Amino acid sequence: MLRILGFAVIAFLLSASVASAQPARELFGAMHQPTTGPEVPVGSYAKGCIAGAVQLPSDGPGWQAMRLSRDRRWGSAELVSYIGALAQSAAQDGWPGILVGDMGQARGGPMASGHASHQIGLDVDIWFERMPDYKLSADERESLSARSMLKKGTRDIDPKRFGEAQRLLLYRAAQLPGVARIFVAPGIKRSLCSTTWRDRSFLNKIRPWYGHDDHFHVRLDCPAGVELCVNQAPAPAGDGCGAELDYWFTDEPYKPSTSPPAPPLTLADLPKACTAVLKAD
Ligand SMILES: [Zn+2]
Repeated sequence: MLRILGFAVIAFLLSASVASAQPARELFGAMHQPTTGPEVPVGSYAKGCIAGAVQLPSDGPGWQAMRLSRDRRWGSAELVSYIGALAQSAAQDGWPGILVGDMGQARGGPMASGHASHQIGLDVDIWFERMPDYKLSADERESLSARSMLKKGTRDIDPKRFGEAQRLLLYRAAQLPGVARIFVAPGIKRSLCSTTWRDRSFLNKIRPWYGHDDHFHVRLDCPAGVELCVNQAPAPAGDGCGAELDYWFTDEPYKPSTSPPAPPLTLADLPKACTAVLKAD
């Protein structure tokens, strides 16, 4: 009897250690239903999960969601209403509607491809491409591609693609309440910096980053009062148009890294509450 118990304990310990070494992206990537109960973004943007996420409908007034097969249209209620609000706000400038890229997974968490963040239901990618004036088919939503706003082989915008309309879209996106940061390619930030604005304060939230030349990435603040949700430190004061932006036009940020790639996140790397979020009904 004792021996059987001993085996059982060893088997349990082995399976537990296998489970804990399994990349969290596999565990969260397999979840296609949110937890029931209240919304709780847990942890930080690149190390967390979300309970009680809601799904963005595939279509709404002024927006259409892309890449439906990825099942990454989940997020906080705040994020879903932000998308609707942005579509409405941008329409005032004549923007014909927004194409919505990835949000997060049904329970958030790390993803098998594409993003380090987007884990707690507060990040969304929005295409720079205009929404067409008809309802896209499911196939088109898979196959249409987002074009880069940069001149081929450069870090600068192509003014034929990125102009006043796109700048105003970003202005609108940054003005809405609850926005923590918006990530764009350095060339896009530079184009915004060299534009005359009545109020430049929105530039503080527009942050240069790798990629982000065919879409921009909106990151919302943690909802008020959610203690498990960890905000990023606020962006440094100022418009970020000086030395900080210049750095992105040097070779420095594009040097290959000398440190080995970080191993994929496991459940143990995430806040403890994320294990409960993963296991919950
Ligand atoms: Zn993104």
